[in-house]
Amino acid sequence: MGLRPNLLTRRTVGVASTTLALLLSTAAVGVVPAASAFSAAPAEVCAEPADVHSDARIKKGGVAKHDPNELTAAQVREREADLVAALRERANFRAGTGATTLATVSIPVVVHVIQRDGTRAGGNIPDSLITSQISVLNQAYGGATGGAATAFGFQLTKINRVTNPSWYPIVQGSSAERQMKTSLREGGKNTLNVYLGELSDNLLGWATFPKRKLDSMDGVVVLSESLPGGTATNYNQGDTGTHEVGHWLNLYHTFQGGCSGSGDSVSDTPAEASPAFQCPTGRDTCATAGLDPITNFMDYTYDSCMYQFTAGQASRMLTAWNAYRAA
Ligand SMILES: [Zn+2]
Repeated sequence: MGLRPNLLTRRTVGVASTTLALLLSTAAVGVVPAASAFSAAPAEVCAEPADVHSDARIKKGGVAKHDPNELTAAQVREREADLVAALRERANFRAGTGATTLATVSIPVVVHVIQRDGTRAGGNIPDSLITSQISVLNQAYGGATGGAATAFGFQLTKINRVTNPSWYPIVQGSSAERQMKTSLREGGKNTLNVYLGELSDNLLGWATFPKRKLDSMDGVVVLSESLPGGTATNYNQGDTGTHEVGHWLNLYHTFQGGCSGSGDSVSDTPAEASPAFQCPTGRDTCATAGLDPITNFMDYTYDSCMYQFTAGQASRMLTAWNAYRAA
């Protein structure tokens, strides 16, 4: 596409996380048995609409069965009201404890590799793809690819390889997905659990949005061959991981809400009527100011096309971190 020169070097810049202070206690990071990691086991799958907290990225032409990608206006209003309430709750908590708001955050990452068997086709990807994915996350969230620098850095703490044909492929919204996550999820609210494998319905990945009360579904699911160097043509530079982690940190799609209203609740991402695919330079689907943000990580374009978060998205993610995931 020749979109911009630094696309050529984006994968070779150094890992930006080294400049981030490690402010979170590593004592809280370790391996916690799944059963004790949560205040209560999720009693009922349908306690609240699952779709509100789930979001998928799809390939062009892919159709998600339940299409959890776009929230309704009512769901967005509900989530925004909850964010305000969570912030108020946290402010009161901090006033009582003297705790401060975090400005930089190092996120521990536990990667679960779900395999059918020991072959590459069966999900057995090498460790090198995983460490490359962590580097891509650090570059993207550090602003090293051309976007705004965010507060976040990522530290790989564990690779957990699991051979279980009944979890392969990972089927979005299935009881098998719930069973897998309930068995495997580790750590507290601040721990990013990544599940890698073959996925259902042509999906590239999906993620949960943050909630005030941690549950075992929390985390991101990513097509293993979308990792940097994988075989997913046009989607193998690791930006599915970047996109899904954006949802985990409370970002909506840039096309959320279309051309009207508050859109994605971020003021510096121009409104966009619908998802953009491939790399449609110059696309402009709304009468409001600005071209469509096709280079934003929260759109659906090719990995080679997307390279940035905005300052507004960085701010929204940090606010949400302090509301939902900070210790
Ligand atoms: Zn998405």
